Amino acid sequence: MKTTASPKAPLPVPRTAHLPERSRRAHTEPMSVLPLGDGLYEVESASDHTYLVDLEAGRCTCPDYVFRKTRCKHIRRVALEITAGRTPPPGEIAVDCHDCGEPVFVDEDAAAPFYCDDHTIYPGDTVVDRETGDRLTVVDVSELRADAVNIGAADCTVAEYRTNEDYDPDVPVVGAVYPHATVASNGVVPASLKVYVFPRTRLEKR
Ligand SMILES: [Zn+2]
Ligand SMILES: [Zn+2]
Repeated sequence: MKTTASPKAPLPVPRTAHLPERSRRAHTEPMSVLPLGDGLYEVESASDHTYLVDLEAGRCTCPDYVFRKTRCKHIRRVALEITAGRTPPPGEIAVDCHDCGEPVFVDEDAAAPFYCDDHTIYPGDTVVDRETGDRLTVVDVSELRADAVNIGAADCTVAEYRTNEDYDPDVPVVGAVYPHATVASNGVVPASLKVYVFPRTRLEKR
């Protein structure tokens, strides 16, 4: 799975605190942190060396840790970035929002596609069909994947349906209705409205 490193820049230094040398350098040196999963982080230092940090074990592959067994600036930096919200905590990884590319932290076992808060859809939301430009109202966001849901009338799966060929078959399906004005915000659908099923990535939140 593709993960995202934090920007290689200094962190803001707390102004009032007089920080010990290792702690000061953990803030001020431009380092980037790449979460690898399993509580492991790859830290690229200011001098372009990369070290592996195991946060929960408090270990690092740099000389400062290996020879002095000290809590080096790389271990400190990972902890600081997690506190600052720039790097995900152990158990989570950083991925890109499918629609806008913003980094999002998700469980390391979660399946794509991923969405930021702005692009996550819920029943009652208005979405646009990328194929037709039609506006629809979401009534259901399923855990089921497009290649596992049948369209009864078309006698094929959602993934196999002709206009869905350009979308990944391994994405959740979303039920939506036309027109968008007639569904209550709790997702309750009047009996007369037909629900159409789409691959999640075909719909874009508006
Ligand atoms: Zn280190
Ligand atoms: Zn987004």
